[in-house]
Formats: sequence, C-alpha cells, structure tokens
Amino acid sequence: VSSGAVPHDGAGVTYGIDIGGTKVLGVALGPSDAIVAEVRLPTPTGTREIVGSHVADAVAQVVVELDGALAEDRMADAPAPPVPIGVGAPGMVDRGGRLCFAPNLPQAHGVDWTALVGDRLPGRAVLIENDANLAVLAEHRLGAAQGRRHVVMVTLGTGIGGGLVLDDRVQVGSAGFAGEIGHMVVDPNGPPCPCGRRGCWERFASGAGLGVLAREAALAGRLNAVVRMAGGDPESVRGEDVSAAAAAGDPEAQRVIEQVGWWIGFGLANLAAVLDPDCFVLGGGVVQAGSLLIDAARATFAELLEGGDRRPPVTVEPATFGERSGAIGAALAARQGGLS
Ligand SMILES: [Zn+2]
Repeated sequence: VSSGAVPHDGAGVTYGIDIGGTKVLGVALGPSDAIVAEVRLPTPTGTREIVGSHVADAVAQVVVELDGALAEDRMADAPAPPVPIGVGAPGMVDRGGRLCFAPNLPQAHGVDWTALVGDRLPGRAVLIENDANLAVLAEHRLGAAQGRRHVVMVTLGTGIGGGLVLDDRVQVGSAGFAGEIGHMVVDPNGPPCPCGRRGCWERFASGAGLGVLAREAALAGRLNAVVRMAGGDPESVRGEDVSAAAAAGDPEAQRVIEQVGWWIGFGLANLAAVLDPDCFVLGGGVVQAGSLLIDAARATFAELLEGGDRRPPVTVEPATFGERSGAIGAALAARQGGLS
C-alpha cells in the first residue's frame, strides 16, 4: 500500500472509513491495494441525540470527497462506478451494525450505524464493522502479520481495541463482541474505567493509561522537565508530552514509557495464555512512542509468558499501517463483502 496519486480508472476501487475518537479517516483502495485517495475530517462531538447523526454526516461527507478525488483522476466522460464502502466504528458493534456499548464514545450508545449511514448514501453498498476487527484484517492481509495464521491485534489509542485472527480468519464471537481486550480487569482495586468497572487493562496500557502514569509521576516530583514544558502544573501533563520528551532522551519520561510498556507486556502474556497466537501486532497512536515502548513490552511479555522458553517464539510487532490500519481493513472488507 502506498499513499498519493496513483493513476486508475475507478474500477475495483473500494472505500474504507474509520470513525476514530478525533478524526474520521477515509481511504480509496485500488484493486492492487494502493491507496488512491485519502480524506480526513474531525469527528463531530456533542450530545447523545445529535452525535450519531453528525458522525454519519461526516462519513457521508468523506464519501463525497473521495468520489470527487476519484472523479478528478478519471476521464471526464467515464461514468462513476458506485464504489462499495466499509466503515469501522469503535466499541461493541453487533452484527447488524448497531453500537451496543462504547465506554469511550458514550454519547453514541444505541446508534444504528447501518441505518444512519445507509440513509445518507442511498444506492451504495455499506458494510459496518468494529474498527479493530478491520485493523487486524488489514495487518493480516497486507501488513505486519502477513503469512501468520493466529494473530492478535492490539490497538492502543485512548482505550485499547482488539482484533483476532485464528486459523487465518477474523473471529468476532457469538454476538460480534470478541476482542474487547481493553476491559480485561488486571487490578480489581485499580482506577475506575468509563465502562463501569475498575482496573481494566486500558486504564494502564493505553493513551489514557500513559496520561495517568505521567501525572502520577509528575505529582511525585519526577518528570520535572516535562512539567515545565506543560506550563508548570503537574496535573496538566499529557501523554504526548511524555512521549515527546522520552524520544528526546529525557530519562524520567523514558521511565514512564517503560512502565506503560510493562503493562502492555503483562496483558499480552495473559492473552497468549488464552489464545496461543504466533504474533501480536501493536497499532494505534501510543505505538508512536517508538521502540522504547515496544522493547519494554517485549521484555515484560518474554518474562511473564507461561513456558516462554519452551514454546515457539511469539513475535510482537508494530502495525505496518499505523493510523490507517482500520480504514484499509474497511476497504478490504468492502471489497470482499465481509471480514472473511
Ligand atoms: Zn473497562
């Protein structure tokens, strides 16, 4: 997959659109798996009543802009083919495309994405899936897990999403909710989670977890350089500040990143005990903290994995497509009419 203007006639193109916490990202994927156009819009926010329809409006707008980008490239008299569309949404999306529960998108509970998006795109084939299920499809077919048969994708964003490939097929469970790995409880006395429980894995190992660990360290008098950068208030230290400081060589920031890496590796070892994958793929914005984070996760994983020195190696790799995994997977799902 490559980005940028690639000549094409529109045939065999599909669209993949990923509804994220901050942006709605759309790609047009050509038949040879190249990205031929890309569009991003900010994710609308608001109250429960309006947010679902406004997000659906944004999805429809992304489609309009992708259609426009393709039309520019095409011969003026060539008819526009109705491009099939895949859409990835966060949270517990059932098999009918309804969002049943999303701790990090509570204003959208109960939203029927299939109806809302379908109404805005009459005559277009639209397929809705959970975003991490689509991300693992992309990484398995084209990315970091190509050629692997048993894959767990862990998307480390605001929360943690999970996608599973077992025996070369994406698995979604009985109701479509498999892979809600961010809400495995790893400390029953831990901090409260938006899902209503305490001590979920994503409270420690996600972007939110990085923020919490960073503020803890700042309040304890560590992270002085980062606190100064954030304006002097330890409470206002953000995860991104710590990632940037760690990348620039600040040893105190690096220690916080290593802590998050420890929590990631801890969760991976638990997942390996249940699923026996041959490969983990780490995606999402937190992975941009770089090799320090992944190295710490790998070291903890190796230490905690049951029988680690007596089983075939289990690799832990960063996602090939970064923030685009979900959108690319959505386009692949649209091309093949589903996850498998
Ligand atoms: Zn939770």
